[in-house]
This record gives sequence, structure tokens and C-alpha cells, in this order.
Amino acid sequence: MSTNKKIPTPEEIEKEFQEFVQQKYGGSVRLINASAGEPSPEAEDEAPEPKKTFDLKFDLKPKEIKQYLDRYVIKQDEAKKALAIAVCDHYNHVRECHEDPAAAEADYSKQNIVMLGPTGVGKTYLIRHIAKLIGVPFVKADATRFSETGYVGANVDDLIRELVTQAEDTLELAQYGIIYLDEADKIATPPNIMGRDVSGRGVQIGLLKLMEETEVDLRAGNDVASQMRAAMEFQKSGKVEQEVINTRHILFIISGAFTGMADIIKKRMHQSKIGFNAEIISKTDDVTQYFENVTPKDFIDFGFEPEFIGRLPVHVVCTELGVDDLFYILKHSEGSIIRQYENAFRAYGITVVFSDCGLRRIAEKAIAQKTGARALMTVCEKVLRNYKFELPSTGVEEFVVTAEVVESPDVELKRIIKEPNYRRNTVMCEQVRRYEAAFYAEHQLQIQFDAEATALICERAIADEQTVKQVCDQLLGSYQHGLNLIKQNTGQSTFTFPKAVLENPDQILEEWIRESYTTKR
Ligand code: ADP
Repeated sequence: MSTNKKIPTPEEIEKEFQEFVQQKYGGSVRLINASAGEPSPEAEDEAPEPKKTFDLKFDLKPKEIKQYLDRYVIKQDEAKKALAIAVCDHYNHVRECHEDPAAAEADYSKQNIVMLGPTGVGKTYLIRHIAKLIGVPFVKADATRFSETGYVGANVDDLIRELVTQAEDTLELAQYGIIYLDEADKIATPPNIMGRDVSGRGVQIGLLKLMEETEVDLRAGNDVASQMRAAMEFQKSGKVEQEVINTRHILFIISGAFTGMADIIKKRMHQSKIGFNAEIISKTDDVTQYFENVTPKDFIDFGFEPEFIGRLPVHVVCTELGVDDLFYILKHSEGSIIRQYENAFRAYGITVVFSDCGLRRIAEKAIAQKTGARALMTVCEKVLRNYKFELPSTGVEEFVVTAEVVESPDVELKRIIKEPNYRRNTVMCEQVRRYEAAFYAEHQLQIQFDAEATALICERAIADEQTVKQVCDQLLGSYQHGLNLIKQNTGQSTFTFPKAVLENPDQILEEWIRESYTTKR
């Protein structure tokens, strides 16, 4: 038997892998050769590509991180602060080690983080934005995807390899990345009558190794693509360089809803405070309040290994979002999905205007789904799907998402298409609402035209061929001064305008001012 085995050509290797994959997974998995085509003969002589390097310049302060997060993430102030501090500590330390390797020897415990909070409240969103701000790769995975053996799900080391992919093969950058593991509460193994469940424990131990410090081989035995690359490299150069990545500086964040944890904390707090403050504790049903008191022991009682939880010193709590928060997310956050819809319609030359009432109704519907802000997208998709389908093929150039649209999208869609006057009226009414908002922003006086007054403004604008703004400006020319006088006299800063204001503006204002002197504070 000859020991001088012929080295296969890339095509032969590819064919063999294709067959292997076909056999193992059937038709559902296919290999795609990214470097399709023949390597040119010159390529053989080419010098190997230089390794991409990266220079970490981290100089952010916690406040700057929080301010950045405030632009996108609503509420979660405590979480933002805690994260900003932990992230600064971590990357300052990383930078020091980068500049002076001796610093790496100093005692430092990594600021790995556990995030607790219900679904859809911004946990992932916060971390994604932090990674983006710092410019490090970010990998998110569900903890449930892993198993001890690596057979059933993916192996935990795969996370590190994904980081390298995210870092576009810049190994150094990948070593400073962030790994975010969602549903981490699912790998807890609370003791039960059958004893502890071993698979969750195995995942914890696998993760523990990564969180401490280990070197992960980037060429996993079960990773077909990297094996192929290695084989090609071997054929080219006669040797395969080992590629490993050290996990010392990778920041790990695990998160979950931790259902049941509040009861564990509650019980512990009861036991320690028996007879003292116990009543207050038992009365509060706010899970967040308990989470804020979580201790490592609670995590252990929940089913985490002490060593595992010991490596996650920073505990961050995110709170539930209410209707007002969801409304605020839609209306004000920089990443609001409303912008996406505006852009999508604009592509067809259609202006979509979201009224406050419409946004509020979307928020109310979303809350009912109990998946936090995540439901906003679902609700909007459901409401506006047919609009996206039908309107681009009509002459409609502008429409308003009113509360009625959110409530009965299909009925309203028909009216919007078939009744131009109705459509124009909803657009003008919305312009009146925006005028009120602008008036407030400019003068800190909250004015509101009632339904009849609003209708009259629209009628006048049509009859006189004027814009809503022109009609309102003419009407309220003298009002700003008068209303301020009333505000000074009585403290009143909210004014509802009935139809009469439009019919006799000066007379009504005079009456209001006179009255304000009689009720002067
Ligand atoms: P989870 O808390 O389950 O990790 P995510 O962070 O993935 O939830 O939130 C899902 C989506 O909902 C985000 O992509 C974002 O658009 C929106 N979202 C959630 N919470 C907030 C928040 N506090 N502020 C702004 N948007 C949010």
C-alpha cells in the first residue's frame, strides 16, 4: 500500500463534501462554493492574504453611552446606566491590555452581564446598539439551541466562530466582540424529583469555559466550510495554520424573562424580613421590584451552577412597557418602525401620516399581545398590509392612519380609495391636530379645536382654497397674546375652542379675558 496518497483537487474535495452533506441532511442543506470558478494559475504564487488587524480605540464615557441609547431605547434608564458602566469598565480594561499586555496579568473580573426582564422590552435592542456604537461584532443566539454534545443543536464554540464571521474575519476584532444569549433561563436546571437535568448543566459548563478564558479552534470538526478551507490551504501550501481565538476579552451577556425567579426572591425576602416589612413585600406584585433585589443565591436556587453565575457579576433589570411607552416608541424613538412605513409608501409616491390617535390605538392593540414592543410590528403589518398592496395601484397620494384605520383597516381602505372627499377630510383634520401641536411647541399653550370647529376649519380651507395653516393663522392672530394673559391671570394653559371661536374670534377672546380677571388667582 502506498503511503504517498494523492492529494485531491478542489473539485474532488467539493464533490466529496457535496455527497457527504447530501447523505447526511438530504436535499435541505446545500454547499455553496463562494469562490466559484477556477483559481488562476498565478494565484498559486500569490502571497497569502495578510491577516486583517484592528486597533481598538475606546474612549467613551458612561454618560455618552446612555445618551446614545436614549435616542433609540425608551425607558429602561437603570438598565442603560448599569450597562453603560459595565461596558465602559470592560472596554477600558480591554484597551489597557491592548496597549500594555502586562495589564492583562492584573486581577480583573470580567463584567459579564445577566439581563432580566420580560420579552420585547429592549434587552437585545440595547446590546445591539451598544455593539454598534463601539464598533464590535455582536452575536445573538438562543441558549435553547445548544446541547451538551453539540449533536442536537449547535455547539457553544460556534458562537465564537460566528463572531469571527461578523467581524469579517478580523480575528482581533472578533476577540473584543459581544455574545448575547437569549432565553438563558431555559438552561437553568432547578432540582426536581428526577434530580438535576444534565443537559442544561452541560451547556452552562460549556459556556463557563468560554466566559473564563479559553482558546477556540476556528476550524471545528463539524464545520464543513472551514474544513474545506483547510483542505484547500493544505493543497496550496502543504500546511494548515492553526487558527484559534482567545475568549478572554469577549463580553458575555445572558438574558431571559426568568419566570419564577420573582417567587424565589420574594420567598427569600420574606424569610429574612419576617415580621418586619413583610406586609409591604407581600403586597407588591411588581416583578421588577423583586428582580432589582436579585442575589447570586437566587440564581443558584433558580438552577444555575454557582461557578456559572459567579462569572456574571452585573445584574441588569429591564421593566415592562406600558401603552404610553409603546406610543412613545412609535412616535419618538429614532428607530421607530413608523419611519419604515413612511419610506415604504414614499417609494410609490404616497405620503402616509400617522395620527396620534392611530398610534395610540396601535399601542393599545400591541399591549394586548403581551410581547412588549415586539408586537408593534405585528400590529402595523396586519393593519397596513392591504394598504401596501392596494394603494400603489390607485391614485391615492396621501392618507392618514387614524384610530378607525387601526380598528377596521379593510373598511377604511375601501373608503380611502372610493371617497376622495373623505380621504381629503381625514388629511385636513390631521393637519389641524398638527397645527395644535406646533402651537404648543411654540407657545406652551395647549389648544384644541373641538370636532365642530375642526370640521369648520376644513370647510373654510376648501372654500377659500387655503391651507389649514393659513386658516388657523388668520384665526388665531391675536390669540397667542390673549391666551397668555389668561394664563397669567388664572394659570390656565389648556384651551378648547368651540365652533364659536371661528365665527366670532375677537368677541370670544374678549369674553375669556374679561372672565379671567374676575377669577384671577
Ligand atoms: P427583548 O427584550 O425580548 O430582547 P428586543 O430588544 O428584541 O426585546 O425588542 C424587540 C423590538 O422592539 C426591538 O427591535 C425594538 O424595535 C423594539 N423595542 C423593544 N423595547 C424597546 C424600547 N424600550 N425602546 C424602543 N424600542 C424598543
